[in-house]
Amino acid sequence: MSDYIRSVDPNDFYILGRGSNSLINPDSTVPAIIRISADAVDPEINGTRVRLGAGMPMNRLQDFAVKQGLSGLEFAAGVPASLGGMVAMNFGCWGRSMSDFVTGIQVVDDTGAIRWLTGDEAQFSYRSSIFHQKKWVVVAAELELTESDSDTVRAAMLANIHTRIEKQPLRDKTFGSIFKNPPGQFAAQLLESAGLKGRQWGAIQLSDRHANFLLNTGGARYSDAIDVLEILKATVQSIANIELELEVKLFK
Ligand SMILES: Cc1cc2nc3c(=O)[nH]c(=O)nc-3n(C[C@H](O)[C@H](O)[C@H](O)COP(=O)(O)OP(=O)(O)OC[C@H]3O[C@@H](n4cnc5c(N)ncnc54)[C@H](O)[C@@H]3O)c2cc1C
Repeated sequence: MSDYIRSVDPNDFYILGRGSNSLINPDSTVPAIIRISADAVDPEINGTRVRLGAGMPMNRLQDFAVKQGLSGLEFAAGVPASLGGMVAMNFGCWGRSMSDFVTGIQVVDDTGAIRWLTGDEAQFSYRSSIFHQKKWVVVAAELELTESDSDTVRAAMLANIHTRIEKQPLRDKTFGSIFKNPPGQFAAQLLESAGLKGRQWGAIQLSDRHANFLLNTGGARYSDAIDVLEILKATVQSIANIELELEVKLFK
């Protein structure tokens, strides 16, 4: 991968985790997608500090944390994401975010060099990090977790999955939050107040469970989703005079 990155223009590839916050244009002219495989890096454990591969999906992370009796990642249980995507997006909910746990990140930078960044160097902020400015591939992350026991960790994860199933369309075809929350506001609330919750445009619906989730009810195309995103933005802009910013990443 290092040689490949050294040889290509950064505009010539996208980096994909599990795609749970990405909308991908199948007709994109960008020639390549880089994806770190789930087994590319073996887990290393040093007490409560762990090093895990970026391609590891959340369900495997969950099993790992339960087996080791390590607490911290329960807040993300049930989300179909990868560790690399969660680091790049600074995944968060319920007052926690990945930046609370990340102490180091192994990357392939745009010169093809493999190196470790500190948590500070990752420039984490609300649903953002340095990986939104730099085409650097997260290969592994070091996390500081807390000692617990398997039963406690499992119970917390199951409780969180249950809460998510109640509040979010976890079982539907969706990519997670459409828009970031504007300062002091909730995107879902703005969309709901604009009368958009549950609305349907062809094969696309704004979830009637959580208004910041878009659903593909069957056969929706990339261009259909883009059209709906524009409608949602324009409607909230005209009703609430607030410009919503996309959280979902477009692979154009
Ligand atoms: C049902 C559901 C619930 C969700 N709930 C939440 C929630 O509570 N909180 C929240 O924050 N998000 C939530 N999400 C959104 C999503 O899960 C997160 O944004 C997650 O961090 C994306 O991980 P991913 O591996 O799927 O990333 P992808 O969607 O594949 O990629 C997202 C971005 O990260 C970049 N990226 C991915 N992997 C790497 C890598 N290895 N190196 C560098 N860049 C990389 C991509 O280029 C892209 O820009 C939810 C999604 C769903 C479907």
